[in-house]
Amino acid sequence: MDAQVLEKLDAAPSLAGRVAIITGSTSGIGLGVARALAAAGADIVINGFGDHDEIDYTCAEIERDTGARVDYDDANLMDPAAAAGLVTSTIRGFGRLDILVNNAGIQFVSPVEEFPAEKWDAILALNLSAAFHTSKAAFAAMKEQGYGRIINVASAHALVASPFKSAYVAAKHGVLGLTKVLALEGAEHGITANAICPGYVWTPLVENQIGATAEARGISREAVIRDVLLAAQPTRRFAETDEIGALAVFLAGPDARSITGTALPVDGGWTAH
Ligand code: NAD
Repeated sequence: MDAQVLEKLDAAPSLAGRVAIITGSTSGIGLGVARALAAAGADIVINGFGDHDEIDYTCAEIERDTGARVDYDDANLMDPAAAAGLVTSTIRGFGRLDILVNNAGIQFVSPVEEFPAEKWDAILALNLSAAFHTSKAAFAAMKEQGYGRIINVASAHALVASPFKSAYVAAKHGVLGLTKVLALEGAEHGITANAICPGYVWTPLVENQIGATAEARGISREAVIRDVLLAAQPTRRFAETDEIGALAVFLAGPDARSITGTALPVDGGWTAH
């Protein structure tokens, strides 16, 4: 290949031509990952809830900033058929699916003896089962392409526990188990599956649990931030959503083809304890 072509190839964004779904990407980490994948050249499908005008604005902004095609799908991933439908409609609309980021998640904090059964069911349905339903729907197309990247946004809570988070910790440990199985089944087909395990990232999900954590532990909101959240992270800072985005871009690309079945902490040293 001549030098001019090589130069152009080097300049091409690493994910040009790839199509990605990012679940739960109208907010927080998912939105950060969506922006990063689009900036790296992928066409993307945004999913999640929120004000439709704001979501349209965000999609148009990402399109303008990156040149990516950006679609929005409001599938409620609590519903197994809707989770699978998000994948099949993407494949129908874009002709392929290369990158599936299972990110949508919710949290609820309560002592186990008071933990509402319906909250347990909802957290398991979204944080764990939805990743199974989307991955199941994506697998055949990824096998056929000989290329697939499944990136599960798990948590440090896939590796260690905290009190009052029974459903969340159980679901996230389950996501890591699912990740390992997908890695083994995909290995000979060019499909990798990995779990990103963030510590605390400042998003609405974290903000919303501060009050309940303060109540469960009998301490102030300030003490929750200082003595619970940041005390867990030796770096004493919240990670930023674009740090998770940068790792997702790397995992989605060709250089990560031997990285599969792993849990990758982005937790400021939390799980090194
Ligand atoms: P967030 O609340 O900012 O975003 C959650 C997203 O999920 C939103 O887009 C929301 O609309 C969407 N969503 C909620 N219910 C849905 C449903 N039924 N169907 C489809 N989409 C739905 O939260 P976040 O902090 O960005 O969390 C994203 C993921 O990262 C979660 O899986 C969470 O467990 C994980 N995580 C977050 C942190 C953190 O500190 N923020 C740490 C570790 C792991």
